[in-house]
Amino acid sequence: MDLYCVMGNPVEHSRSPWIHARFAELTGQALRYERRLAPVDGFAAAVAGFRAEALAAGDRARGCNVTVPFKLDAATLADRLTPRARLAGAVNVLDFAADGVLGDNSDGVGLVADIVHNAGVPVAGADLLLIGAGGAAAGVLGPLLEQRPRRVVLANRTLAKAEWLVRRHADLAMAHGAGLEARALDAFGAATDDGFDIVVNASASSLSGAAAPVPSSVLRPGALALDLMYGPAAAGFLAWAAEHGARPRDGLGMLVEQAAQAFLLWRGVRPLSGQVLAELRERLG
Ligand code: NAP
Repeated sequence: MDLYCVMGNPVEHSRSPWIHARFAELTGQALRYERRLAPVDGFAAAVAGFRAEALAAGDRARGCNVTVPFKLDAATLADRLTPRARLAGAVNVLDFAADGVLGDNSDGVGLVADIVHNAGVPVAGADLLLIGAGGAAAGVLGPLLEQRPRRVVLANRTLAKAEWLVRRHADLAMAHGAGLEARALDAFGAATDDGFDIVVNASASSLSGAAAPVPSSVLRPGALALDLMYGPAAAGFLAWAAEHGARPRDGLGMLVEQAAQAFLLWRGVRPLSGQVLAELRERLG
């Protein structure tokens, strides 16, 4: 049996085992996908243990999804990285290939697939506000720029982190004809004339129960306002977006689409992500 897992700490909340089990069912792939809690200082040992246990049981560990707080550890552990994982400096997919461990980052392509295909909103030519400069923002900035937006403003509470990400992505932005600038969150003040077609909250602001870390004037009428969070944590941001005439969207679509990209890398088969997203929404009520 081919074995996969999601490794994180905490990990019990992860929907990945259910998503990948559904992908496997729908595509007729024989595999098992587990949930693994790794000690915060023991990611590499946990990966080695997963592989050794599989071997001892006569199975074969083929890959692993990586979640908080191990995406940087996973980038170090991989023998080689895909270009998008190298740019992000973070890995959420490990592929245990015959010639070594490949590290990929599917968060950004997952987000783009959700915005463009599921929500039907083109990123090309759009003015986009990306809030946050942590691991999630680092993973999605490159794939968003590759869509050729008109410009991306990267806003973060700590300006220096946004500036660092902007420097790292400057060449990519130029190659795709996209403007890219860093801004401090408090530079938005109470109101701004600077409106956006797409606002993506990739910060952890929703965890503190706040609605949104920017004034509602950033939302052009009908703008897409997407929080990478989902479930109760995203409720404040989604209500804020709806109240101000935007189209609210949570991070569930991105979650399913990044999983679909991992599944494609591992199995060479593209699963029906739209169907699985609809089923997951129904399951979660
Ligand atoms: P992270 O690396 O810890 O970064 C956290 C970011 O949030 C930083 O930019 C931080 O700003 C900012 N922040 C924290 N509290 C804030 C507040 N009260 N107001 C404004 N900004 C605040 O976390 P991450 O890995 O980037 O993850 C961010 C979120 O995305 C997580 O909640 C995660 O669940 C979600 N996510 C969802 C998916 C999905 O598939 N849907 C995938 C990946 C991540 P400073 O730099 O100033 O500290």
